[in-house]
Amino acid sequence: PVYLDHNATTAVAPEAVQEMIDVLERVWANPSSTHGPGQAARRLLADARNRVATFLGCQATELVFTSGATEANHIALLGALARGKAEGCTRLVLSAVEHPGLLALAARLRSEGTPVELIPVNASGQLNLEAARALLGPDVALLSVMGANNETGVLMPVRELAELARAQGVPFHVDATQLVGKSGLRFDASGADLWSLSAHKLHGPKGVGALLIRRGLSWPALQAGRQERNRRGGTENLPGIVGFAAAAERAARTLADDLAHLRALRDQLEASLKALHPAVQIHGDGVARLPNTVCLRFGTLDAEQVLNKLERAGVVASSGAACTASGTQPSHVLLAMGATALEAKASVRLSLGRHTQEREIAHTVAVVRRVIVPLLAAADVDVE
Ligand code: PMP
Repeated sequence: PVYLDHNATTAVAPEAVQEMIDVLERVWANPSSTHGPGQAARRLLADARNRVATFLGCQATELVFTSGATEANHIALLGALARGKAEGCTRLVLSAVEHPGLLALAARLRSEGTPVELIPVNASGQLNLEAARALLGPDVALLSVMGANNETGVLMPVRELAELARAQGVPFHVDATQLVGKSGLRFDASGADLWSLSAHKLHGPKGVGALLIRRGLSWPALQAGRQERNRRGGTENLPGIVGFAAAAERAARTLADDLAHLRALRDQLEASLKALHPAVQIHGDGVARLPNTVCLRFGTLDAEQVLNKLERAGVVASSGAACTASGTQPSHVLLAMGATALEAKASVRLSLGRHTQEREIAHTVAVVRRVIVPLLAAADVDVE
């Protein structure tokens, strides 16, 4: 099928597969072992760390390998509360449109007594910077805002937030999972103190990712153990880490071309879909977004019905975050943007990738014209 769900995950790059197989077959010793094979694994780990750091714009010592963004987000939030406690920094300030995994952790913390405040977004999904400023104060343990929203692709004002946070002495964490490989922003230039990401969103393997911790900032570990400079215990996932490095290197090499390619196809897709019917509404239309993401609704046609029709015609996509797609809850992101529950449940996300081809976009538009537009005519939708 035409795969338009790259924000959920991407295909593993052939370069990454090759390097991973090589590590699995040949470099399976424990990097903590002091014998020759162990030291060879250790060198490979250090090399992979340098390769990923070069791509992300951080120093090798600032990079902690994790099992992915979810774990990195947990270290960021739980670590912030642990280190803030002594100084009376107890509040968490997050955007209302964070990833469901991060918001679920925040909900658990709130039920246990942690004050959690959410920064609202406007109807286009843009963060309200004034509200962020008002919520920050010296008693905030962490400001956590994603770099780009996984459902709408809307970019968050990372540099401006970094300034606000710095002015108050508040650590600033960015869930950069969707940003990496789809934006030129790098850790060093972002002004953030912490970054979370997952390798599988940029053609690396699943189950591996990183937390970047700005040099000089001490951050409590969740998993005790001496690996990752005492910041994340447990034998390192060397095959995954090497696959991550190969994918990062490949992304660095083709980033400019990838961005231009995605943007051109995305613009073409949006323009063609909008031309099909006036009930096609794109969320975050006209605001700064990732170059690969189209979140839209066809009037109030139910997303599940739309996605079924599309899949039967050979196009796969998802509604909102893949992680919540199986649930029946309307997307918290679209609700935060002021959509009604009906509108939120009508929204689908088409996310493009490096290998998406022009003929696949043309096919998608043709499929929508054939199987979705007639439903719109039948439903006699309201057109604002
Ligand atoms: N944060 C964001 C913004 C994401 O899009 C995702 C993946 N859907 C995650 C965190 C979680 O990543 P993982 O499941 O690899 O831990």
